[in-house]
Amino acid sequence: MTASNENLYALFENRFPADRSWPFIEIPGGRTWSYGDLETESGRIANRLRSLGVSPGDRVAVQVEKSPEALFLYLACLRIGAIYLPLNTAYKAGEIGYFLGDAEPRVFVCDPAHAAEAQGLAQKAGVAHVETLGGDGKGSLTEGAVGESADCETAQAATDDIAAILYTSGTTGRSKGAMLSHGNLASNALVLHESWGFEPSDVLLHALPIYHTHGLFVATNTVLLNGSAMIFLARFDPNQVIELLPRATVFMGVPTLYVRLLEQTGFGAETCRSMRLFVAGSAPLLPQTFEEFKARTGHTVLERYGMTEAGMITSNPLRGERVAGKVGPPLPGVEARVAGEDGTVLGAGEVGILEIKGPNVFKGYWRMPEKTAEEFRPDGFFVTGDMAVIDEAGYVAIVGRSKDLVISGGFNVYPKEVELAIDALPGVLESAVIGLPHKDFGEGVTAVVVGEAGAAPDETGIIAAIKDELAIFKVPKRVFFVDELPRNAMGKVQKNALRERYAGTYDSPTRES
Ligand code: AMP
Repeated sequence: MTASNENLYALFENRFPADRSWPFIEIPGGRTWSYGDLETESGRIANRLRSLGVSPGDRVAVQVEKSPEALFLYLACLRIGAIYLPLNTAYKAGEIGYFLGDAEPRVFVCDPAHAAEAQGLAQKAGVAHVETLGGDGKGSLTEGAVGESADCETAQAATDDIAAILYTSGTTGRSKGAMLSHGNLASNALVLHESWGFEPSDVLLHALPIYHTHGLFVATNTVLLNGSAMIFLARFDPNQVIELLPRATVFMGVPTLYVRLLEQTGFGAETCRSMRLFVAGSAPLLPQTFEEFKARTGHTVLERYGMTEAGMITSNPLRGERVAGKVGPPLPGVEARVAGEDGTVLGAGEVGILEIKGPNVFKGYWRMPEKTAEEFRPDGFFVTGDMAVIDEAGYVAIVGRSKDLVISGGFNVYPKEVELAIDALPGVLESAVIGLPHKDFGEGVTAVVVGEAGAAPDETGIIAAIKDELAIFKVPKRVFFVDELPRNAMGKVQKNALRERYAGTYDSPTRES
């Protein structure tokens, strides 16, 4: 008896509409790709990758602008059993060099504009092939795929086989590659599809990046399971979203996108007349945004909570009460509990670290077995690092983070990495990086610096230097100078004191801040 194929693509394929001319992706003012086109295009790219020597288990690293072809590349990797490794488009050469060295992909697909730099990085890391793919779908990858056959038998995969690696930022400045299996992604997509009541007639307005779990897995995988259509925006533009919402039924966004929509005077109930569901997550949705959205549109945003390592973990209900400031009960099949630092499980109403278990929880960090072991309890629960409280009704509220992660505009910034970059600048003695409340970004990355008298660069100089080093979302929006950092008796920097001192920094943020 042959084992059933647990390849995620096989699951999607089973759910594709019988009529393959049904639309999958539409670019506003441009082309529409049907489910039949999806099969053809991803089949050709899959065969192109095979021609480049990509075998099951090989990594394919991808740093490209959002495009339908980028999604076909993701599906092509699934189809041949390769591991898809998407990278944030904001990453700079130094960061990419690390990912290539760590993941050792067989192929690196980059934007045509970065081809020369990518060649150098790839050569250093021993990556066999560099291919290009632009936001317009053009590049050596798709050119090479033209001559390939569109037929591609889906590779056999077991539930535990790795489908994707997504890098999270590391608390020690080193990123960790979260290994997600076909089973992890399939279970989460199936649960979300069911819990959020997807129907074949749904149309998702897709305005998120596709290198992150939210836009790639939460949004795209549910649509693929549903065999329905999505309107695909290259980037979030509030005016374009307002123009297209009347043709959509589902929208997913990080809280910043909801804040931006509410800033538009033309946004209201009329714009949302065809909508059935607004989903928010990746960072806390402020209760004031939740309330304002309800008052303006009549819609109650459904807030859910998740992370790269586990996909979606909790969700407010589709039917039932959606509570502002809470992320809802665990999704079906997911167990959640709150525990102390020592692992003692706490009761309802007590604040502790959220621990979770379920088929959605990742297989571990790529080539970091010790780090992986540290994050799991002996009974298999994963320690999320988020501080939470679970109420009597089973609703989870995220109240903070046990590690001092900053989330700016939905992106995770680990202070250590930014501190190391600042400390390396001439004239800087030490620094502390914190997140401060910011109306637009949720948190604004802020640096507090101790410099050598007269020798340290000023605020503008530090910001300019870090911009060259790190992705823009990690760059401090403000830099403050102090004579010394506040420390506790154990010598640890008291970041809480700094957060309090500079709390009002972004009370009236400018658009550029
Ligand atoms: P990422 O791995 O980039 O998806 O980031 C995961 C982290 O984002 C989680 O560990 C939480 O700290 C945070 N997060 C995600 N969703 C929410 C939410 N709805 N409310 C509060 N924090 C969230």
